[in-house]
Formats: sequence, structure tokens, C-alpha cells
Amino acid sequence: ESFSELNLVPELIEACENLKYSKPTPIQAEAIPPALEGKDIIGLAQTGSGKTAAFAIPILNQLWHDQQPYYACVLAPTRELAQQIKETFDSLGGAMGVRTTCIVGGMNMIDQARDLMRKPHIIIATPGRLMDHLENTKGFSMRKLKFLVMDEADRLLDMEFGPVLDRILKIIPTQGRTTYLFSATMTSKIDKLQRASLTNPVKCAV
Ligand code: AMP
Repeated sequence: ESFSELNLVPELIEACENLKYSKPTPIQAEAIPPALEGKDIIGLAQTGSGKTAAFAIPILNQLWHDQQPYYACVLAPTRELAQQIKETFDSLGGAMGVRTTCIVGGMNMIDQARDLMRKPHIIIATPGRLMDHLENTKGFSMRKLKFLVMDEADRLLDMEFGPVLDRILKIIPTQGRTTYLFSATMTSKIDKLQRASLTNPVKCAV
């Protein structure tokens, strides 16, 4: 099985080749086909499994057909993880002209607001700082967001991001939103979050 069998746009197949991704990892093989059908996904996978590309590839594939600013938002528990996710989106989507930005705590709000005004397609964010911009940056809204990803959701909840996640989920209309939740572990808190945020999700576990 290879990426060329997955019905992806040529730019993405080429990007996978350039990155030396010779075939999908198990989580990618499980998650990408239902994601391309438009399903919500709950992915149980560890770091190192290729989970980032498992959600980045279907998002980029659909973005290619429908380039819009503020297309997708990925929430991550830490700045370092957010930066790594951005690098994956940049290397997979660079040839498509995809614009990404990282919105994380500890960085200058005004610089970030300026980046948001350039209308990136993909925003990778830590939840607290994203909420700050949703409340304070004029002209920035996620009302038309197509994809929301909660990555390492178990860590997001461990870091007490639960209440701000709930607020972000309320702001983005469920109508027209596809949601992916990735977590290393399945706990009762994760189950509660997935029931509150996903619609008929496909469960992918490796
Ligand atoms: P992640 O689990 O998303 O942190 O990815 C772990 C590492 O696997 C990253 O360095 C990716 O570049 C790499 N990777 C992701 N997908 C593939 C693939 N299909 N084949 C080979 N390496 C991959």
C-alpha cells in the first residue's frame, strides 16, 4: 500500500516522496481514508507513530480544493509541539502554497495579530493564546473554520486547558466543522471530550 493509492492530490503525493515517506504508517493507513470521506476521527496514537501527517494530509488534501483563510486550527498542549506540527504542515503543503502560523503563549501578541491578518490557511495554537486572539484581535474569527484538531488531547486536559477548550468549541460552529481528536490514551475525560466535540467519529487505534 502506498500514498499514491490514497487518492490524494499530486502535490501531496510528491511531498510524501520528497520527505521519504515510502508508505503510510499504521495510524495514517487507518485514519486517512475515512478522513478523506469527511468523517470525524478519534485517533489513539503515540508520538512517533506519524500521527501529525495522519491529520495534516487529509486537511491539506481538502484545502487544495477549497483554499480559504482560517481553514483549519490545530490545538496543541505546548509551544514545542505546535512548532513541530507547523513544520509538518509546511513540508507537506509548501508546494501547494499553504500558509501556516503558530499562535502560542510567550510570544508577542502584536506580531501574532499581524500574522493572523495575513490570513493563514492553517493556525497551530496553544489554547490560551488562541482564546486571547479570538477575544482581542479585531478581524480574526474562526466562524468559517472547516477543521479543528485537538492533538495530544490527554495532555491538553492534564494542562488544565479543559475550560478554554470548551469555550473554543462553543465559538466554532459545529455545522460544517470536521473535528479530529488525537490522544495517546483513552481516559474517561477524553471520552467526555470526544462525546462533546465529535460527530459519529471513526475510531482509529494502533
Ligand atoms: P509524529 O508521530 O507525527 O511525531 O511523526 C514522527 C516522525 O515520523 C516524523 O519525523 C515524521 O516525519 C515521520 N513520518 C511520518 N509519516 C511517515 C511515513 N509515512 N513514513 C516515514 N516517516 C514518517
